Amino acid sequence: MRFLYYFCGLIKDCLSVPTTMVFPTRHLLKLGLRNTENIHYQSSPEELIADTLRLGEGVLNDTGALVIKTGEFTGRCPKDKFTVLDEITKDTVHWNDFNIPLEPKYFDIIFQKMLDYINALPELWIRDGFACADPRYRLNVRTVNEKPWNNQFFYNMFLRPTDEELEDFTPDWHVFSVPGLTLDSKECGIRHHNAAVVSFKHKMILIAGSGYTGETKKGIFTILNYILPHEKNVLSMHCSANIGKKGDTAIFFGLSGTGKTTLSADPNRKLIGDDEHAWTDDNVFNFEGGCYAKTINLTEEKEPDIFNAIRPGALVENVKFFPGTNNINFDDASITENTRVSYPLDFINNAAEPSIGGIPKNIFFLTCDAFGVLPPISRLTPGQAMYQFISGYTAKVAGTEAGVTEPKSTFSACFGAPFLPLHPGVYAKMLGKKMQEHKVNVWLVNTGWTGGEYGTGNRIKLKYTRQMISAALEGKLDKVGYEKHPVFGMEVPVECEGVPAEILNPRNTWEDKNAYDEKSKYLAKLFIKNFEKYAAGVSSEILAAAPSV
Ligand code: ATP
Ligand code: MN
Repeated sequence: MRFLYYFCGLIKDCLSVPTTMVFPTRHLLKLGLRNTENIHYQSSPEELIADTLRLGEGVLNDTGALVIKTGEFTGRCPKDKFTVLDEITKDTVHWNDFNIPLEPKYFDIIFQKMLDYINALPELWIRDGFACADPRYRLNVRTVNEKPWNNQFFYNMFLRPTDEELEDFTPDWHVFSVPGLTLDSKECGIRHHNAAVVSFKHKMILIAGSGYTGETKKGIFTILNYILPHEKNVLSMHCSANIGKKGDTAIFFGLSGTGKTTLSADPNRKLIGDDEHAWTDDNVFNFEGGCYAKTINLTEEKEPDIFNAIRPGALVENVKFFPGTNNINFDDASITENTRVSYPLDFINNAAEPSIGGIPKNIFFLTCDAFGVLPPISRLTPGQAMYQFISGYTAKVAGTEAGVTEPKSTFSACFGAPFLPLHPGVYAKMLGKKMQEHKVNVWLVNTGWTGGEYGTGNRIKLKYTRQMISAALEGKLDKVGYEKHPVFGMEVPVECEGVPAEILNPRNTWEDKNAYDEKSKYLAKLFIKNFEKYAAGVSSEILAAAPSV
């Protein structure tokens, strides 16, 4: 039924919407584009959906969302992401496994290949948008897309300029996204046939050979993680954020899959954003204008906000339908575990508008500990908070297909190393200063295993994690007793409203207490080993916060 309504809406919109904006050709020529025919500039979502359907690249599900497949890649390719090594980046970028240098001559070759490819395309989608909700830091971005659905992703995920704002729009940065272009690795100085290349000199992100929409999102995040701290003295963060009724902001750091998107969608709090924010001298603001939520095992009961956002205008990636229907089977991971949906922020009922909040009162570090060692919630001292931030720990279950079910630890500095062009110490120092200055409460939340490690125990109930976070936010955890974790040293509450007391101390949930003690020591050693590379550069307070074995 909703589906029918949607179609009627589509037709109505097509009749009432003014003709598509015309893109000024001179901009294209300046970039080296000769393909000035058939350019869809600033198309409405309805037009982009219609274009995708016309090309046979997507279908609507039974609630009217567009469902597409991103092709060969259904996730980011960090090993194929390059930063051009030039006079700007040479001494500022922290070259490592995530910031891989590319010689300028290869950038020129790749860009030329891209232009040749684009100039031969039958049609092209171009869109202007903003990043950064705070106008003081606004970044104007123009995207040039081979695929209409990549253009819709950009519409959903970034800030949408008004007609007035478009009149004098001058792009600061360009993002070219050309999934169909296959590069020659040798000729282009890259690893494989695909690449995402960032050039700070040309102010361009070139995405070739991958249709995965997240490449655009995290490409823009990467450049903001350079520009804001390096040029504007503003801290950029891989975190979600929301605001309570009393105007109190909370931020949630965490690596992929730890719960940033899920836990920031809270019916009692306004959503600022689900993934990327900055913390200035006077506020916290979102970089984006939309959310990018996982849909694997999604249920209306557990995650009503995200479930109900899957409607006309939402873009769903790499899911499958129940056979013979247009009904998404959210449990089907046969294309990928990383099934996703993007939608504009206002698809969430209580989104803050604009996406800006005050200085945070509470910080949560989310970790999904598949070892089942860390407490489901604990309070950190300033030293422990810095230790955890620099460590950036989570643990996943490795290689399920091969039958290997051992948890595998990940330590990713600042909970976001793949997106940080500068040395992690830059971000850590800024956060430390802010935490101290504003006396923020810092909590470590384990959204992962309890009752044993993966294989024995279970993932903690989302209901309980939500309760614990609410209790912390409402000040209820200020009034309870605490005990110190014997190995990790954080303070663990002995009671929490709405949560069985026996699950608060993870040791109680393990049948074999010895096994818990052993696993704690094992994990502590992993932390200590990982921290060795930072030890020389941090204060004694932070060093003293290391776990003890
Ligand atoms: P990304 O950076 O990749 O966007 P994220 O931090 O936003 O990752 P989410 O999209 O919130 O991660 O993913 C958390 C997943 O874990 C969701 O699928 C959620 O349903 C599931 N989950 C299960 N139990 C919990 C829990 N106790 N707390 C949080 N999430 C849980
Ligand atoms: Mn997320």
